[in-house]
Amino acid sequence: MGIAFPVAAGETIVTASPIDGDELARLSRHSLADGRAAIARAQTAFRAWREVPAPQRGQLVRIYGDLLRTHKEPLARIVSMECGKILTEARGEVQEVIDICEFATGLSRQLHGLVIATERPGHKLLESWHPMGVFGQITAFNFPAAVWAWGTMVALVCGNAAIWKPSEKTPLTAMACTLLFEKAVAQFGAAPDNLVQTLIGGAELGVLLAENPGVPVLSATGSTRMGRDVAVRVAGRFGRAILELGGNNAAIVAPSADLDLALRGIVFAAAGTAGQRCTSLRRLIVHESLKDTLVTQLKSAFGSLTIGSPLDEASHVGPLIDQLAFTAMQAALGAARAQGGTVWGGERVEAPGEGFYVRPALVEMPAQSDIVREETFAPILYVLSYREFEEAIALQNGVPQGLSSAIFTRDVREAELFQSACGSDCGIANVNIGTSGAEIGGAFGGEKATGGGRAAGSDTWKNYMRRATNTINYSNDLPLAQGVKFDI
Ligand code: NAD
Repeated sequence: MGIAFPVAAGETIVTASPIDGDELARLSRHSLADGRAAIARAQTAFRAWREVPAPQRGQLVRIYGDLLRTHKEPLARIVSMECGKILTEARGEVQEVIDICEFATGLSRQLHGLVIATERPGHKLLESWHPMGVFGQITAFNFPAAVWAWGTMVALVCGNAAIWKPSEKTPLTAMACTLLFEKAVAQFGAAPDNLVQTLIGGAELGVLLAENPGVPVLSATGSTRMGRDVAVRVAGRFGRAILELGGNNAAIVAPSADLDLALRGIVFAAAGTAGQRCTSLRRLIVHESLKDTLVTQLKSAFGSLTIGSPLDEASHVGPLIDQLAFTAMQAALGAARAQGGTVWGGERVEAPGEGFYVRPALVEMPAQSDIVREETFAPILYVLSYREFEEAIALQNGVPQGLSSAIFTRDVREAELFQSACGSDCGIANVNIGTSGAEIGGAFGGEKATGGGRAAGSDTWKNYMRRATNTINYSNDLPLAQGVKFDI
């Protein structure tokens, strides 16, 4: 079977749980030579897999989804221990993988082309879709299973072989997911070896995938800094990149908002997953008439959150991923103070062991200054106020990133305007729902520095396939398009 986890001596990755800083595992890294060999094996697997009819390919994904159902709880616990999200969210993440398997299985019977009206008699004009080849995927620590499934399950039913380079912070989740996939392959019985391979290591393996022409399509989920590097390398060899990068998501709270509903939506989006979702709410743009009331309510809500071990069912907020994340958060709060902000919360909360637990921070800002325009991957909610609705839209759009956005309003004109071409410039624009917690049925991704990629639902399968236009002449003549004459 093709899932070669490194066992030989060599450079090691030591993973620590964000829960208490205790060591979880020591793993050998894959070398660059291992990575190159994996790409060559994947190309061989692809040549066999593309000949398996798509609905049969879907059966492999269906079997995997069934296996995940029976392994949901242990996998969720690994996710929780390794990336620190609370159990209910970790279970939700595994559920998302199951949902994607269902989605991809259905899709395997619905991959379709077009028959297009042709200008020539006795001709047929078609558009058909074919797999790309090897699908490479680089993923971030914060959704260590679901993001992989968004891409790989769809890429598989489309007929591609896949190579996964998970975050070096969450290799155990990746190993658990791929070992379970190996079981699905064994049950399925008709898949080529090396159909899905996982490479354990750091950015150097991501760079290898980005630069190697043997990987025609590469999905990269992570920071904008990473995406900027990957995008250039993939473009340099005319590969296709699907970039899912950082967000700086805002919610507008309009005068007509249902404040109780807004409060619940804001608290989950800002504090959930300890602010470590790409769609976490980072900016609140509140009508000036509501600002003081809402800020008071938010302080009270943030103050009442239970912060502690993600394995404790009572916890609302688990730890930050590591000390670096804590340092970055404190630096951002320092910058916010220097730029005129008033900070509430954000302090470290004591917990057994070396985990970095924080009280989510609420920061009232006089303006959308430089620090507000940056993504800090931690629970900091900047609060800005507005008077005119156009001002709120301008603030919402006035950042480099364009992932998720929301408005809380009962005014239909505001809601429609927000979702119109003149409203939010993000890939996700919600009404009366927070910025995080997207369903898989819709295309997921964002614009500007978020990278422009789309994964998961809708027609994103087209990202994992190549399009061919086919003209068939079933007449006895050879008419040329556009009436061109070329008699010989
Ligand atoms: P990160 O950019 O540090 O790392 C992500 C992955 O990229 C890792 O696997 C890492 O090894 C690899 N990598 C890093 N530099 C690379 C390079 N130069 N070339 C190739 N690979 C490289 O991100 P992180 O800290 O793991 O995750 C947090 C970030 O991910 C946040 O910015 C968050 O918004 C973003 N994110 C985005 C989405 C989305 O769908 N838009 C989803 C989840 C996370």
